[in-house]
Amino acid sequence: MQQKPHVYLFKSIILLGVYFITAKIGLGLDAVSGFAALIWVPTGISLVALVLWGFSYWPAIALGAFLANFTQGAPLLVAGGIGIGNMLEALMGAFLLKRFIHFHTNLDRLMDVLGLVLYAGILSTFLSATIGVMSLFLGGVIPHSALIATWSAWWVGDMISNLIVAPLLFVWSTKPFFIKQPKKITEAVLLWIIVVGIGLVVFLGLFGIWMIDSPVTYLVFPPLIWAALRFGQRETVTAIFLLSVIAVWSTVLGSGPFVRQQLSESLLLLQTFMAVIAVTPMILAAVVSERTQLEKRKDDFISMASHELKTPLVSIKSYAQVLQKQLKPAKDKKSQSLSYFLSQIDGQTDKMNAIINDLLDVSKIQSGKLELRQNKINFDVLIKDTVANLQQVAQTHTIIIDGETKKKIVGDEYRLGQVLTNLLANAIKYSPKAQKVIIRCTSNTRWVTVDVQDFGRGISQEEQSKIFEPFYRVEGVRVSGLGLGLHIASEIVRRHGGEIWVESKRGKGATFFFRLPLRRLRERVLYKKLTKKPYG
Ligand code: ADP
Repeated sequence: MQQKPHVYLFKSIILLGVYFITAKIGLGLDAVSGFAALIWVPTGISLVALVLWGFSYWPAIALGAFLANFTQGAPLLVAGGIGIGNMLEALMGAFLLKRFIHFHTNLDRLMDVLGLVLYAGILSTFLSATIGVMSLFLGGVIPHSALIATWSAWWVGDMISNLIVAPLLFVWSTKPFFIKQPKKITEAVLLWIIVVGIGLVVFLGLFGIWMIDSPVTYLVFPPLIWAALRFGQRETVTAIFLLSVIAVWSTVLGSGPFVRQQLSESLLLLQTFMAVIAVTPMILAAVVSERTQLEKRKDDFISMASHELKTPLVSIKSYAQVLQKQLKPAKDKKSQSLSYFLSQIDGQTDKMNAIINDLLDVSKIQSGKLELRQNKINFDVLIKDTVANLQQVAQTHTIIIDGETKKKIVGDEYRLGQVLTNLLANAIKYSPKAQKVIIRCTSNTRWVTVDVQDFGRGISQEEQSKIFEPFYRVEGVRVSGLGLGLHIASEIVRRHGGEIWVESKRGKGATFFFRLPLRRLRERVLYKKLTKKPYG
């Protein structure tokens, strides 16, 4: 991508300035051997700059690192070596992330988090630590004996920056807007208060000095898990950052569970803690986000595929009907068999249409878009009509209606009819050897209860808890179906404020019950008067 020179220059100066200032602050914070910091913030900043703006910004990083170390008292060549090391570190981190995992800066995939940890956190920082410490050693700034301690502090300090500072900048630069729903804002505020509160308790001994030495650091995990599960990567990395700030600050003040006699020992303990609280919740948030994305894609796919399938089906059906009309007058044998085939095509397209409608309903349910009409329904009539319609196509069984409620209900007539059809059709479908199916309707002051009884194979206890889940089908039953009917029925009943359940024993038939509340009648009628909403 071609950049305008003045934009490049401007951004470079900003990067250089930010690098220099944060480096100076870092060096001020108890640097090991004067140069290796507890958390080297500029490392994270450089990585983000190169990933977001492009590799061409490397000179600002080299210069920033050089100036920060030179003004700290490092000899010219040593500062130059450190500058080159830090620049290579950022270049390598950004290159590996882009080249091998097509890095998403919002860290919404497990691969992004693991890539960040491995490529930027562990590998690229190796370069900077090695080149930097070698420069210090060769320049005579540190003795032989300090090599390992300085190298490890340098490496881990840079690593922590790529694990805590870089994610914060990455996600906020990708998703800078605040949460919109008021309920979520309240929850987020509560989350931050708890995060800071726990940080203060664990590290600064708020509410009792005894807490400082107690091993209660694990308390930081619940709010981090909360952030990962309920919010997302942005809130998670922010929580991690806040906790890290408190942890560093308290350790510098000489307080908290990681303070030891030896400074280098406290640092290492603190750094390990920070790495763990950074990586674990980030992985969790990424996994949650991947799952949500997959669900969303699946819902979109079902909805799109069903819409696409519907169009050709409508054409097939109407062509078959046109041909059927043209054949009707002809009485010869050939025309009769053609007419039979056409009626088969017609019947099969209806079946396919029903399947597609089920898929569309499920996608509406899952995206929360299933709308219900609010009408006054005479339930006895609805049952009679549904049974009459079904009896026409299912002549193998007699459907017996037992009892009347004489009660009216408020709800969606089409959808409740769908529930009845589904239960009756299942009762017939899963009792091929029986001759009858019974539908009963009773009521009391609160509920209208319907049950559909069959004398078929029945459903085992274990399966009863699963059959209302979408796409669940009992294994080994060789009857066609997608396993959606009961799920759709249960959602419709639930949305009417009712309940659905089954009572059955294996081999002794099944009885499906559902009940709808009468209490809602008054509220709903009122509601309907206020908002006359059309269907759909
Ligand atoms: P489908 O019938 O398309 O498979 P459903 O959601 O209607 O989907 O039913 C889910 C499963 O529950 C079915 O696969 C079937 O095994 C079982 N089932 C439903 N109704 C009955 C019934 N009346 N008797 C026995 N099994 C049933």
